[in-house]
Order: sequence, then C-alpha cells, then structure tokens
Amino acid sequence: MKTVAIVGGGSGGVSAANHLASKLRREIEDKLVRIVLVEGSKRHYYQPGFLEIVFDLMPQQATYRNMDRMLTKGIALISEYATMIDLKNHFIKTERQKIDFDYIVIATGASYNYDAVPGLESGTYNFYNLDKALELKTALNHFKSGKILMGVSSMPYKCTPAPLEAVFLLNDYFKKRGIRNDVEIEYIYPIPMAFPDKGVSDVALKMFEDKGIKSKLGFRLKYVDNDSHEFVSEDGDRTRFDLAIVTPPHVGNKLIVDSKIGDKMGWLTVDNLTLNIKGYENAYAIGDATNLQVSKAGSVADAEAIVVSERISQAIEGYEPVSTYDGSGGALMITGIGSASMLTSSYTQKPIMMPESYAFYWIKLIYNNLYWNMTAKPVLNEVIQ
Ligand SMILES: Cc1cc2nc3c(=O)[nH]c(=O)nc-3n(C[C@H](O)[C@H](O)[C@H](O)COP(=O)(O)OP(=O)(O)OC[C@H]3O[C@@H](n4cnc5c(N)ncnc54)[C@H](O)[C@@H]3O)c2cc1C
Repeated sequence: MKTVAIVGGGSGGVSAANHLASKLRREIEDKLVRIVLVEGSKRHYYQPGFLEIVFDLMPQQATYRNMDRMLTKGIALISEYATMIDLKNHFIKTERQKIDFDYIVIATGASYNYDAVPGLESGTYNFYNLDKALELKTALNHFKSGKILMGVSSMPYKCTPAPLEAVFLLNDYFKKRGIRNDVEIEYIYPIPMAFPDKGVSDVALKMFEDKGIKSKLGFRLKYVDNDSHEFVSEDGDRTRFDLAIVTPPHVGNKLIVDSKIGDKMGWLTVDNLTLNIKGYENAYAIGDATNLQVSKAGSVADAEAIVVSERISQAIEGYEPVSTYDGSGGALMITGIGSASMLTSSYTQKPIMMPESYAFYWIKLIYNNLYWNMTAKPVLNEVIQ
C-alpha cells in the first residue's frame, strides 16, 4: 500500500488532501493507497476573516471549523504536530508516532517572529491570528482620537494587499463613527512603494490622497519605542503613534528548521513548475511554506494543491506526472466598506488591479461562506463519493 502524507491542515493541506481523496477514491477503497493528514490544531482557520472580524464584516465564529469537519471520506487525520520530517528516508515523526510515506506534501504555512523587532509584541496590535484580531477590535472600539500607524515590518508576509485593505477599512470605520477628522492614519511600508507592484502602488497612493491617508514608504522598522510611542527605522527615522497595527515578521515553520530541509528563513525551496522540493521527486511543498516568488495567499495554496494532487495521482496511476503550476493567484481586495477590487497575477502576468466596485465587495463577503464548500472541501468530492 502506498502512503501519501500531508503535513499541515490549513488552506493548502486540506485542499490537497480532499483533491487527492477524490482522485484516488478507487485506490483508497481497494486499500492500495492511504492518505494521512498530520495536523495538530483542532481547528481549521479561514484567515482572511481575521481582518474582517475587526470591522464587523464577519462574526468570529465564522472564521473556523473543527478539523474533522474539513475532510472528505478516505483521509486519516492524525491530530498531532509533526516534530521531524526526514525526506531522504521517507518518514515523519510526530509527538507519538513515526509515519513512513511514499509521497509527501508539506503545507505548514508561515510563522510569526516577533523577536525580530524589539518592542513589537508588547506595543502593537495586529490581525494575523484570531486572538490578536479580537484584541485589535476592542482597542479600535475604544479609540476616540489620535494617530494610528498601520505598518508592515518586513517582506514577505501573508496576503500582500491586507495592510492596504486595513487602512481603507480604518478610514471608513472612523467615518462611520463620525470621528474621521479626529483620527490621523499613516501607512508604513518597508520598500519605497505602497505595494510590491508599481502599478498597484500608484493606484493605492492616489486613493491615499483622496482619503487623506498619509504614508512613509521605504521605512524599515528596526524597533518600537514604547516609552515615546514611536516606530524607529533602520535609518533612524521616527514616527509617533497612539495606536499601532503591525504585520509581524514572517518566517518558515520551526518544523522545517528543525528538520533542516529549508533555507535560512525556514522556507522550502521548490521547483516553480512541478512544486517538487528541490532534489526530491516524491516530495512537494505548497502554500506559505515555500520561498516561491508568488503571493503568500490562500488562492495560491489552493491552485498549488490541485497541481500536486494531480501529479501524485498521475504517479500512483503509473504515468509520468505532467501537471504544472503557472504561478496564478488572485485576491479580492477591500478598498472600503462597500467596495473592493480584484487582483490577479501569474508567472507571466504582472498583477492586474480591476476597478473597484460594489460587486467585488459582495463577492468577497459571499466567498467567506463559499470557501468552506468550494475551496477547502469541494462539495463535488462528496457528490462523487
Ligand atoms: C489577515 C489575513 C488576510 C488574508 N487574506 C487573504 C485573502 O484575501 N486572499 C487569499 O488568497 N489569502 C489571504 N490570506 C492568506 C491565506 O490565509 C494564507 O496564504 C493561506 O492560509 C496559506 O495556506 P497554507 O496551507 O500554506 O498555510 P495555513 O493555512 O497557515 O496552514 C498551515 C497549517 O499547518 C499546521 N501546522 C503548522 N506546524 C505544523 C506541524 N509541525 N505539524 C502539523 N501541522 C502543522 C498549522 O496548524 C496550520 O493549520 C490572508 C491571511 C491573513 C492572515
């Protein structure tokens, strides 16, 4: 019997497991293949919701589901964290067991390294997990006047448009409360643009001008001075705040570092077309865990999950794997309460930003529900079975 192991049951891992279970249904029934998902978290989180709950666009309970509800028939869930992956000898160690595999998909996402910026964790808010988002929501509800900084500490980080979405939402949130004139909003970004693509950056900066949002671009945050309430940059530049929201530094997962299979930041190096971990034909990595030059986005993780599930099923069925990833990804980017735009890109297409509209905003909110049955666990899988 062949074992396909998936490590990490977030957006990419769950999608890969469900697509594999659908494609290899017969082989699983005939006990020729088993699919094992190793995931220590009891919950699967829909992370785009973390920003939305801050502004009451989504209830917090809608951002997660129990892990066992996420999986289609034919997948064995191991509710333990992996502690080591040995790619050469084809096994994974968890807290309690050793799992041999024939194929592996690593989808352990990104971690946050608060220690990289002194003063960051104690002095700032963010929306990069559920608890932090709820803390920020409470802080904003009590905020009546002063200066808010929305900053990105370093690249790369998840969902490239999220910090822009946050400042646009802050603008409308304070307008709705009737205190926008009492609140100064400043956007801090580590490169000399408002977004990694010049075209999108130019559009965003024009919107900042229209909405009275200030910006400091090329500001590489060195530390947060919590006595003087200031951000201090690598160049010694300072900017003051009354409330600060910061995208924390992102690094690869500790498991990748401990297993010595990643680069110095803990990201996995994969072939950009096949998504094979370099040097291993039976090992793949997808989603935020890789150092591919694509957005760290759920849409990317899902597109990659489909490619690797096709390649693994092709190999198991005795064919040469032919499916490849074209670098495609996209995001619905909120530009205010009631408006959104859509961004798409691929290896061969620079990011395209569509004109903002209510329709995109509506699709974004609808997608919050569709995610569960369309992307993470496609209902089609259930119907086929
Ligand atoms: C605020 C915010 C807004 C976002 N908005 C968007 C958006 O609008 N559009 C979009 O496309 N993307 C968005 N994203 C990004 C998207 O959520 C991520 O890119 C996506 O979740 C990546 O999927 P992944 O499977 O790689 O990692 P994750 O979904 O983070 O999953 C990683 C999983 O690995 C598990 N894991 C970790 N270590 C171990 C271990 N040792 N053993 C076993 N399991 C382990 C974790 O428990 C977790 O379940 C947003 C993210 C945030 C934070």
